[in-house]
Amino acid sequence: MKDIRTLSLQELTDYFVQIGEKPFRAKQVYDWIWSKNLHSIEEMTNLSKPLREKLSETFVINPVSVDLLQKSKDGTIKNGVKLHDGLMVESVLIPTETRTTACVSSQVGCSLNCEFCATARLKRMRNLEVAEIVDQVALIDRQSRLYFDRPLSNIVFMGMGEPMMNYNNVVDAIRKITQPEGLGMSARRITVSTSGIPKMIKRLADEDLKVKLALSLHSAVEQTRNEIMPFSTKFPLTEIMEALQYWYEKTGSAITFEYCVWKGINDDERHIKALINYCRKVPSKVNLIQYNPIGEGKFDHRSVAAEEHYVRELTKAGITVMVRRSRGGDIDAACGQLANKGTE
Ligand code: SAH
Repeated sequence: MKDIRTLSLQELTDYFVQIGEKPFRAKQVYDWIWSKNLHSIEEMTNLSKPLREKLSETFVINPVSVDLLQKSKDGTIKNGVKLHDGLMVESVLIPTETRTTACVSSQVGCSLNCEFCATARLKRMRNLEVAEIVDQVALIDRQSRLYFDRPLSNIVFMGMGEPMMNYNNVVDAIRKITQPEGLGMSARRITVSTSGIPKMIKRLADEDLKVKLALSLHSAVEQTRNEIMPFSTKFPLTEIMEALQYWYEKTGSAITFEYCVWKGINDDERHIKALINYCRKVPSKVNLIQYNPIGEGKFDHRSVAAEEHYVRELTKAGITVMVRRSRGGDIDAACGQLANKGTE
């Protein structure tokens, strides 16, 4: 049976008209599924019982479910989220003193091949449906209220997958998350993180969604970037920059560059200079992310001194730089560690 959440408002309206019901029924159902995140047709109490029964004969709702919940000693919660076909993704709740951030997945596995990322090693891949993305947000919002007594405040598309490779569903999900008749969250508190697909960055700029954009850079030296993120040979840094400049022109929103420092890979002056030059081309700031080991020897040499050197040089060059403390490392919930490990 068809999931009722795959229907647009228009399709729902057509359906109700076709079965001789009033068109406004569509709005009522839409409100239950997208605003209240209701997972049961039976509980749509403003519809008559016969109508609910009729709906149930035609449609289902396939919610995601939490299969495994792990809590880190720093408060981070990692959810192993089961989809209706049995596949799994991970969604992480990251609490700080003032906020709760949901780190959500956009694909099962990932179609890209960043050598330092655990998700890239997963073979099975499919795009998440709109409802599967919205469900992750709704479930983390519920957890935030339950465990931290406050609603979810921020969303980052930094879980499994490349959001730009599931573009339509990610954009539709963001609309449902932000629309007043959806979950009503502020788009300014949503960050889409991409490894850099120029055409899609431009397309997202044209959507007028008001979301923030983060770009996983890791190296502004073409050759190095191609080595550690092999797919990027198709997307030269100059093309990415052109897309970022377009993004800034259209949205007025500065870019965040995500960057790990690895000894022997990008810790020398040449890489620092290249990063500074790259940052100067577009309003931006740098988040230095702590590398989370995934057992790939060549990346396993973290150098705090090298990170500090980056911070000094970037600051001297007038570039805003933040060092991002890693969260949830003890339960493999940190960036790049999402690989359904607990469920294997
Ligand atoms: N595909 C998107 C979003 C998912 S990754 C993207 O590439 O941006 C979220 C962030 O974690 C990215 O910046 C990614 O480069 C980074 N990351 C991947 N593996 C990591 C690891 N092992 N340690 C730290 N950060 C990692």
